[in-house]
Amino acid sequence: MKVISISRFACSEVAELADAYIDNELLLETKLRVVGHARNCIDCREWIEGTARLKRVVQAAARRQETPAHFRRELRDAIRSYRPATRRTRE
Ligand SMILES: [Zn+2]
Repeated sequence: MKVISISRFACSEVAELADAYIDNELLLETKLRVVGHARNCIDCREWIEGTARLKRVVQAAARRQETPAHFRRELRDAIRSYRPATRRTRE
């Protein structure tokens, strides 16, 4: 079993869990650790917001089953705000 303490809950782990966090699939304990880390970490807040935004755009398009011009614009903007290159791994 993988045990994650708060002090060792690093950005790389938040990145891995962001998807499940957004889909509300995490156990409460893990979710609270993600929230607690993101509260103090602008990189992870941006990562989660960027991932959530991307998911919303894709899901909205899937519901419409079409890709109009504004969808492509939204997707481009979402991808631009999604900046894994700026991420750093910290302990
Ligand atoms: Zn972080």
